Amino acid sequence: MAMGIDSKDRRVVIVGGGFGGLNAAQALASAPVRITLLDRRNHHLFQPLLYQVATAALNPSDIAAPIRRVLRQQANCEVMLGEVTSIDTAAKVVHLRDGQLDYDFLIVATGATHSYFGHPEWAACAPGLKTVEDALEIRRRMLLAYEVAEREPDPVRRVQWLTFVVVGAGPTGVEMAGALAEIARDVLTRDFRHIDPRSARVLLLEAGPDLLTAYDPRLRAAAAERLRRMGVELRLRTAVTSVDAEGVTAGGEHIQSRCVIWAAGVAASPLAGTLGVPLDRAGRVIVKDDLTVPGAQQVFVIGDLAAMKKKDGKPVPGVAPAAIQAGRHTARNIERMIRGEPPAPFRYVDKGSLATIGRNAAVAEVGPIKTAGFIAWLIWLVVHIATLIGFRSRVLVLAQWAWTYLRHERGARLITGEIGPLVAAARGPETAGSDASGEVPGASRSLPETPRTA
Ligand SMILES: Cc1cc2nc3c(=O)[nH]c(=O)nc-3n(C[C@H](O)[C@H](O)[C@H](O)COP(=O)(O)OP(=O)(O)OC[C@H]3O[C@@H](n4cnc5c(N)ncnc54)[C@H](O)[C@@H]3O)c2cc1C
Repeated sequence: MAMGIDSKDRRVVIVGGGFGGLNAAQALASAPVRITLLDRRNHHLFQPLLYQVATAALNPSDIAAPIRRVLRQQANCEVMLGEVTSIDTAAKVVHLRDGQLDYDFLIVATGATHSYFGHPEWAACAPGLKTVEDALEIRRRMLLAYEVAEREPDPVRRVQWLTFVVVGAGPTGVEMAGALAEIARDVLTRDFRHIDPRSARVLLLEAGPDLLTAYDPRLRAAAAERLRRMGVELRLRTAVTSVDAEGVTAGGEHIQSRCVIWAAGVAASPLAGTLGVPLDRAGRVIVKDDLTVPGAQQVFVIGDLAAMKKKDGKPVPGVAPAAIQAGRHTARNIERMIRGEPPAPFRYVDKGSLATIGRNAAVAEVGPIKTAGFIAWLIWLVVHIATLIGFRSRVLVLAQWAWTYLRHERGARLITGEIGPLVAAARGPETAGSDASGEVPGASRSLPETPRTA
């Protein structure tokens, strides 16, 4: 039973309502504490399915839930919309853009963002995937590329619009590339008259020697083979050295593309830097084994923001189960500390890894099971449905997936936002940047002559 707020209860402030923060709050439901959960967004986002929003299979509301609604039954917890700008551990104060809060215990769980390896200017031409806005922007660029190509009379420029580049062959890159190939070969095939969507190129670029490096070599080989069969051009040992509006330079070659997606680097939320404690190279807080920070016993850092270690000293991966476990563990530690007991060390339990490649295809490593193909895809499906927040989301996502599977369709193929900047680009350098009128792409030029035959 959730307890009411008592002014004598200790005040726990949680920054971030992602996997770590939300689970910590829920695990404190019966504790004698007053919780304030702060997030700069009003929703908890199920990031593992974000690529499905980016590739038009799901709608944002299918995978995001208002934090306030998730916690509405929990009387000892209030939810506040606000952005934390810095933390003063000496004064025990959290500074917001518009105010401040003091705390007895603090849990910082603000996650991570993209890293462009010292080239933040690449972000404008190669959006990464982290938020609902990112996913909608990628969806817009991907769908618009087909629309512009349909009206593009110049064959060279048409190829450029129909070339999709994904940078980084980790799970997100592989999932994105697989979905883009599926859209080209399976979903859009009959929808255009002047282009053949099946001619679209999907390239997956990886600087390292292999894709999905966290997986067993046999599963990596199976994933690479599957991607190739789907028509994805997988290029390993191909580091990207520049990105601009015309495409990317990688492995010494310039690849012309109007739709580049960044799935390569990760950097911790900049809030870590305000704690005044040691950080690792990715900007994550080097936490103690009980997830507190040096010099501040009542401050915990969890999830993607923390450089956490396994028992064998190896790093805990930046995945949802690690954040969830750390959130729940921290809640138990706070209860221990209130009882006057010392906090216990965190022990990560590896529940396995899953990545989907496309229809009927995934790779799964769960305990001793290492499998690729249909069985892995079924495991992926069940695990993701089971871990989605809320019954409503589960029903909606299942229904959308059934529709996608049976009809070879994608139910969220909407181009939202302004088409102006891409219109300017479609018209060529002579007008690019001078006009964002919102006219239809290619309107000033003639249409391609010959409708394609199906
Ligand atoms: C595209 C993608 C796919 C992924 N796929 C998988 C997968 O298949 N399986 C898996 O296990 N993991 C996956 N992950 C990783 C997983 O999502 C993360 O490990 C997990 O979300 C980390 O949880 P967290 O609580 O640390 O951070 P997050 O879930 O990122 O939550 C951080 C929260 O903090 C808030 N916040 C940030 N800064 C501030 C601030 N200054 N003030 C207030 N609030 C702030 C944010 O709005 C957000 O709600 C994926 C991640 C991405 C991006």
